[in-house]
Amino acid sequence: MNTQITNIWENALKLIKDEVSELSFTTFMLPLKPVSGGSDFLNLEAPADFIKASLEQRFYPLIKNAVNQVSKRNYNVNFVLPIETVFSNIEENETFTYEKTHLNSKYTFDTFVVGKNNRMAHAAAVAIADNLYENAYNPFFIYGGSGLGKTHLMHAIGNYVVQKNKSANVLYVTSEEFTIEYIAALRKNEFSQFRDKFRNVDLLLIDDIQFLGEKNSTIEEFFYTFNALHQSNKQIIIASDRSPNELTFFDERLRSRFQCGLVSDVQKPDYETRMAILRKKSEDEGLLISDEIFDYISRNVGTNIRELEGALNQIIIYAKMSGSDLNFDTAKEALKHITENNNQENELSVKVIIDVVSRYFDVKPEDIKSDKRSRDISIPRQISMFLCRNLMDLSFPEIGREFGGKHHTTVMTAFTNIDNKKKSDATIKSAIEDIMEILHI
Ligand code: ADP
Ligand code: MG
Repeated sequence: MNTQITNIWENALKLIKDEVSELSFTTFMLPLKPVSGGSDFLNLEAPADFIKASLEQRFYPLIKNAVNQVSKRNYNVNFVLPIETVFSNIEENETFTYEKTHLNSKYTFDTFVVGKNNRMAHAAAVAIADNLYENAYNPFFIYGGSGLGKTHLMHAIGNYVVQKNKSANVLYVTSEEFTIEYIAALRKNEFSQFRDKFRNVDLLLIDDIQFLGEKNSTIEEFFYTFNALHQSNKQIIIASDRSPNELTFFDERLRSRFQCGLVSDVQKPDYETRMAILRKKSEDEGLLISDEIFDYISRNVGTNIRELEGALNQIIIYAKMSGSDLNFDTAKEALKHITENNNQENELSVKVIIDVVSRYFDVKPEDIKSDKRSRDISIPRQISMFLCRNLMDLSFPEIGREFGGKHHTTVMTAFTNIDNKKKSDATIKSAIEDIMEILHI
């Protein structure tokens, strides 16, 4: 890379640093790389589409001015895609506990590892946290499977906002807490207190919205709360285990309101991200653990981050209780009860494939063999069939029999579908790669 351009960018960054918050600086500016340029243009590579869009919308004049000031020329600055750059996390050491907000100070941006699986959700979270009163994305709706970091991200936003502005009125509740408080208010006839509490906030974080579905009157009240906040430009952030469209017990009005801001999902972490999360957790605990152990956990425990953390803790506890060193054998021993079920030492079989795939996607092995048609089951099923064909060379009718007596044409369709998707769908491609890794193939 041309050193002149690198120098210009390095000096421009120094100017930019004084103009934006530390959070925006680390999230949006530091990952940029000057990849090419000439006498009148400079191309900066952004790590993701969404970052590029944010830069273009919010930071273009600032960056262009800084570059021109440093170079004393009129450069055209362009943002280009794509690269794989890992975000640096923001440095924030102080921890706060806020009774009033129900925020858990453990969950911050600083302890959140950014990977391909959550990059967009993280970037949106940062943008909102950093500019709460601009209402860039309101509401912000985060969805994804269990243990993938939704709650962590919500608390991180809340903690950041409160840390930046102590008088900001932030409230985190689960939808169950919302329901309980609503019912109590109804019973005690303390409706105005209830409304004061939920409507006089600058930021309302409501978690696991899928559990609000039981009682119609609670949903109705939530709808009013939502509207009141939205109309007065107060930020609302919602987390859910499924997308707004899949929240079928909410009526269309509410579902469409959920989608009028930004909807973003968090996905399962790939191998690299799992390794990075384990490394970060142990670093934060001040523990020195070898990569061999992280690799073992990453390959054997699946993709739920809560379970990855659990496995790491088990190893640490096991080592302490048994007085052994934290070496690879101790780790293997400590996780025996998990890996024994995995059959991963055994020969490849249809059962092993189904077990590994179901663990990877967090679904039940029985469901893979069932006739259920929902996408969260049918994709793992089709991937299992695909792998049985590819890795074990079974015939389509044989695979059909192994999967609860399916017709061979169903298996063929599954095979062709996954074979095509593997080329066009990055999520499916990386899922297959990860599963092959777990299967040691
Ligand atoms: P969810 O709400 O999606 O079920 P959580 O936010 O509760 O998941 O995350 C489960 C656990 O995994 C938490 O302890 C959280 O700190 C951790 N975790 C999740 N995502 C990340 C991440 N990207 N980096 C670090 N830790 C994470
Ligand atoms: Mg959660």
